[in-house]
This record gives sequence, structure tokens and C-alpha cells, in this order.
Amino acid sequence: MMDSVHIELPDEVKKIISTLESAGFEAYAVGGCVRDCLLGRIPTDWDITTSADPSDVQRLFYRTIPTGIEHGTVTVREKGRNFEVTTFRIDGKYSDSRHPESVTFTSSLREDLARRDFTVNAMAYSPAAGIVDLFGGQDDLKDRVIRAVGDPEQRFGEDALRILRALRFAAQLSFDVDKDTEEAVRKLCGTLSKISAERIRTELEKLLLSEHPELLVKAYRLGVTGVILPEFDSCMVTTQNNRYHCYTVGIHTVEAIKAAPADRVLRLTMLLHDIAKPCCRIIDSMGRDRFPGHADKSVEIADAVLRRLKYDNDTRRKVLKLVELHDEPLPEGAAGLRVFIHEAGRELFPMLLEVKRADIMAKNPSMRKDKLAVIDRVREKYDRILADGDCLGLDELCVNGQDLIALGISPGKEIGEILRRMLMDVLNDPSHNEKEYLLDKYVKDS
Ligand code: ATP
Ligand code: MG
Repeated sequence: MMDSVHIELPDEVKKIISTLESAGFEAYAVGGCVRDCLLGRIPTDWDITTSADPSDVQRLFYRTIPTGIEHGTVTVREKGRNFEVTTFRIDGKYSDSRHPESVTFTSSLREDLARRDFTVNAMAYSPAAGIVDLFGGQDDLKDRVIRAVGDPEQRFGEDALRILRALRFAAQLSFDVDKDTEEAVRKLCGTLSKISAERIRTELEKLLLSEHPELLVKAYRLGVTGVILPEFDSCMVTTQNNRYHCYTVGIHTVEAIKAAPADRVLRLTMLLHDIAKPCCRIIDSMGRDRFPGHADKSVEIADAVLRRLKYDNDTRRKVLKLVELHDEPLPEGAAGLRVFIHEAGRELFPMLLEVKRADIMAKNPSMRKDKLAVIDRVREKYDRILADGDCLGLDELCVNGQDLIALGISPGKEIGEILRRMLMDVLNDPSHNEKEYLLDKYVKDS
């Protein structure tokens, strides 16, 4: 029976579908975009599935990019936006739980939908056909469940990444995982070890950035983090019996992720900020848990985790700096604060305030008010420092290396040393950022 549900497609998608149909092919919007429209969410991107071969797609459109011809995907560019147009296909056998050994093109939409991971991701739509929902996707959307298409164990056996994707979609959409699908997650999560770090990273990051990062706890209970992030499992079993805390390290970590803005660097920082606490824990003479040196040690473990997940250097540098500083007290005096901002880096300092706020929000609420008040005061001072245009780095100092060379100091280490002393002076008192003053004080006597 034709479904009467209407989806308002973007003009470019309508045009792509009608161009393919006019040439005698079938074409539909498919997957995440259909799911998101039915949920009233705005799709991130629009994918199109078609009976046309990649060569037909390349012939029918003016601007195309052969993104993944061997898997049937051609990117069509319309009005500066990219649309992935993929030929109906059946995935061949997966011998390694990673890649299908081969893909076969098919003329059957049903077969193309059947290869997709979850029922809510396996619906297609075109203005002519309406919603094509062959696996109960609309019912599962109503019931808010993530359910594998077909037999979950078989589907996870074909591609183990689907195990993590089930949890990521549940976290993004506020859905439950269907019971049989969840049992298959529990049973087969060990096979995630065969999946490449890059694919794991993409899904883990989407889970962290979702509205429900606390699904990390479900991932732990089902055995998933034990495979992809065993460091987190240690946190889940580490108590924090002291006056600052009210949760285990693991639950504190999850609460801190939730309390941080949905930014990649910030949420990764919260995930990793206390990651070394399990190996730093000591019990003092009063019977309280303490974690001396945990920030520095967490930098080491975070570095290893981020390298394992193949994170880029820039992300790694930022996260590690924030982890290193997360527990440092903030100076409240203006001079001390300028030195601190210089050392943290101007870009990272406002992020550090977010990290500290999220950390506080995940601790014992009885200490929250005073600790948040400190952050607020520091933020006000920071805003004042910015408004006043105080020098915060060598690039804002009134003297540079060229000035010193012009005065006859030979290029080298000494120049850096002089500039550093000038900067410390200026951070301490911004009114000293004057060329004449600085040269007089630091060059003439040196
Ligand atoms: P997002 O909004 O995060 O992009 P999405 O549903 O579009 O969500 P993608 O990872 O972009 O997710 O995948 C697009 C579609 O391709 C999915 O909706 C699903 O139908 C199918 N798909 C993607 N990855 C797999 C997989 N590993 N196994 C089976 N089907 C998959
Ligand atoms: Mg997508």
C-alpha cells in the first residue's frame, strides 16, 4: 500500500530524483535523511539510492565526483552542495567483520534496503512512491527503538561496527536498543577489535557529541567499552570516597561529558581528564581516596588513547593541554591570570573555563556554588583583560627579534631569553608594553 506521508525534499534532491526517473531509472532519498525527516529533525545530509549504474549517474549530471565507484557511489554537486548517489547494491560476504569482499549491483530496492543496518535507517522516499518501509521502520520510530534489519547476530557478524552504531544512534535519537539487538551487542562486542580505529573513532565521537553521552555506561555494561576503551572500564570500578565527589570516576566522567558543551575537543577532554585516576588512587590515613599526580598521568594515558584512535595532532595537542590544566587552580589576581592565560594559550583558556565548569558540575553539589563563583569571577577578569587589549603573548609585545638584532644582538638563544623576560614584565604590568621602556630596561643593561 502506498504511504501518504509527505516529506519536503530540498529542490536539489527533487531535481536529482526527477532527472534519474526521466532517464528510466528508480531513485529515492534513503537512510538517515528519511529517518530524520520523519522524526522532525533536520537531516545532516541527503543520500540518494538509485537503480542507475554509476556510469549512468556520471553521464546524467553535469558535475560529479567518483567518490566510491567500486561501491556504487557518485557524488553529484548541485548549487554548491554535495549529494551522494549510490546504486542499489547487495553487500557480499564479510570475511573479516569489516569490509564486504565484494558488492553486487541490483535492480531491487528491497535488496538495497535489506543490506542496511537498522530498520529506522532502511526507509526510502520519493515524491512518486511515498515512503517505502519494508522492515517496520516507521513502527520502530514510533516506539523509539533501534532494531537490526533481519537477524542481529548475523548482521553484526557481517560488520561489527554496527554494534557501536546501535549505541550511537540510540544516544543521538534518545532511543532504546531492541532486546534481541542488545543481546547480540553483548554477545558479539568482542568482534569490534577487528574494526579499524578510524571507523571506531567516528562512531565514538558521534556518541560523545550526542544528547545522551551517558550511553557510554550502557556500552560499558554490554562489554563494548571493554573492547574499544578499556581505560574507561577501570574508571567505572574506581571509587572516590572523599568530600569532593559523589560518584565513581566513571560516572563522574560521564556526568562531566554531559555538562560540557557539545564540542569535540571539550567532550574528548572530559572523557579523558581523570582517565589515570584508577592507577593514581591511594587511601590516606583518614580512609579517604586521593589521586596525587592524576592530571599529569592522565595526559600520558590520554595521549595513548588518542594515538590509538588515530586522532590528528592538533586535536591531540588541545585535549592534552586541557587535561594537563584541568585541576590547576586559577589565579584570581590580574597579573597571575595574564601569565596563566599566556601559558594555557589564548585559544585554549576559554575552553579551560568550560572544562572546569563541567568538572565542577559533576562533583559533590554541596561545593558547587563557591567553585562556580570562582569561575565566574575569573571569566569577568578575563573579559576585562581582552577588552583592555592587554598583551598576552610574544606576538603582541612591542619589541620583536628584529628590533634586538638591529641593536647588535646576534640572532640566537639570547634573543629568545630577552623577549621572554620582557613578556613576563609586560604580563605582570601591561603599561610596560612600550618599546623605549623595554629596550632601555632589558637591552641597555644586559
Ligand atoms: P548521520 O546523520 O549520522 O549521517 P546516517 O543514518 O546518515 O546518520 P551514515 O553513517 O551516514 O548514517 O550512513 C548512511 C546510511 O547508510 C545509513 O542510514 C544506513 O542505511 C547505511 N549504513 C551506513 N553504514 C552502514 C553499515 N555499517 N551497515 C549497514 N548499513 C549502513
Ligand atoms: Mg549520513
